[in-house]
Amino acid sequence: MPRGYHWLKQPYALFGEEREHMRQVIIIGSGPAGFTAAIYAARANLKPLLIASSVEVGGELMNTTEVENYPGFPDGIQGPELMAKFQEQAEKFGTEVLYDDVTSLDLNGPVKTVTLGSGAVHETRALIYATGSAYRKLGIEGEERLSGYGVSWCATCDGFFFREKTIAVVGGGDSAMEEATFLTRFADKVYVIHRKDSLRASKIMQERAFANEKIEFVWNSEVAEVLGGDSVTGVQLRDTVDGTLRDLPLDGLFIAIGNDPRTHLVHDKLELTAEGTIWVDGRTSKTSVPGVFAAGDVIDPTYRQAITAAGSGTVAALDAEHFLADFDDASVEVPAAEAAEVIVA
Ligand code: NDP
Repeated sequence: MPRGYHWLKQPYALFGEEREHMRQVIIIGSGPAGFTAAIYAARANLKPLLIASSVEVGGELMNTTEVENYPGFPDGIQGPELMAKFQEQAEKFGTEVLYDDVTSLDLNGPVKTVTLGSGAVHETRALIYATGSAYRKLGIEGEERLSGYGVSWCATCDGFFFREKTIAVVGGGDSAMEEATFLTRFADKVYVIHRKDSLRASKIMQERAFANEKIEFVWNSEVAEVLGGDSVTGVQLRDTVDGTLRDLPLDGLFIAIGNDPRTHLVHDKLELTAEGTIWVDGRTSKTSVPGVFAAGDVIDPTYRQAITAAGSGTVAALDAEHFLADFDDASVEVPAAEAAEVIVA
């Protein structure tokens, strides 16, 4: 009989040795996709380990105020409160949450290796990658230098510092409308700077912003430079129609121009799409590497909602569950060298 991997069913008692880090499922990411995958995997008795970041637990919704479109909450719910509920539900069914950063991944072979900032190394048979997306930057002079000194990507984090100030939000999507509307709680005046003459944001968010007397739209304009020495004093605007430049005095600038998928740990390990998201097979979460599944914003260039990310996390957990069941049924031959590597913790 060929030597098989079926013994991985009892990962904690390998040949009498303790393999404390061997898991059935490891989930990387603590947004709606990651925690939903954890809820499903935990309820399937897979005892998932979810690796949340050491600092940014909860994903995008932690930077959101009122979430009005998540089904089940007709009166709305605060983003951080919703994420706390996700986590509570995942832990209730046995998910273990670890607050650390993944520094590298080895996805070769049937046992995947996850290395953390602390130096700990965890092994798993199935990996769910749900790292979401990161704020997009303008890539202009002054942006990086004045980050934290008037330039921000998070209204809920930094809005408080702009009481009775004049600030601007860049962008024409839902994020920009949400940020601008929220910032009017603090600032006296909020400009919305958009490179076109119409918005990409949903109708309801647009109408809310248009109705707000503190918000003024600056159309057909892009920020060419952030101005200021120790802190932001304004921006230089370029007219996108005739190219003319002008300065707009400001105390702060919030950038809300979308997000890019966080793929830096896997860009050379998993196939990506032309949009930079992780490629998955059709409506599944199966990536180009067997045993590795991806969910949420990191695979989604289009919809990127909390509810679609949660649904995507469900798909990933079910795919991982089926993969592990198939794996258990099959007797997979292990090359001698690989077998030795797996046995030594
Ligand atoms: P979007 O991609 O929807 O919008 C990004 C905006 O930034 C666009 O208007 C785009 O301009 C502009 N932009 C992009 N790059 C630049 C640049 N380099 N310089 C200037 N402007 C730029 O991102 P969002 O973060 O707004 O939304 C992402 C997703 O999250 C969407 O699906 C949205 O519906 C959802 N969301 C929902 C919320 C809610 O319902 N409460 C709240 C926030 C987000 P252009 O239009 O010209 O391309």
